[in-house]
Amino acid sequence: MGWDESLADVLAQDARVLHELGITAVDLASALEDLLAAALSGDPPHNQREGYLVDIHLTPGFQICPFAPDPDHAQCTAGGGVRFGSVDWRIRNKRTGQHLKGPGLITHLIRAHGFFEGTGTPYRVDPAGLARLLELGPFARA
Ligand SMILES: [Zn+2]
Repeated sequence: MGWDESLADVLAQDARVLHELGITAVDLASALEDLLAAALSGDPPHNQREGYLVDIHLTPGFQICPFAPDPDHAQCTAGGGVRFGSVDWRIRNKRTGQHLKGPGLITHLIRAHGFFEGTGTPYRVDPAGLARLLELGPFARA
């Protein structure tokens, strides 16, 4: 989080964006999780699926959810828990050329908390940008 923004403001603004797009945080999280799971499954060609190029980078340690009740000692269990806490990802939409990158933890933050990281951080994944990347809502192909 940047110091000049409150968590409540960021959550409210992102919720407004999702409402305007007509999609839910779970829609975004599910589509992103599907791509990451496929990329991690090892089925060749494991990094290409449905028009996407997915690069997974394994990170040392584990990204801990900041909403965890005791983040120094235990991972968050909200919304089914954290599934991709040891990877970073970069995804390219081969049809549009758009690409985004982010931490694996973001799938949990989006699904369980409706949080896309603060706008002042390098970890943020813009919800509208993610919807466009994943071709959801108004960006869905006809
Ligand atoms: Zn959490």
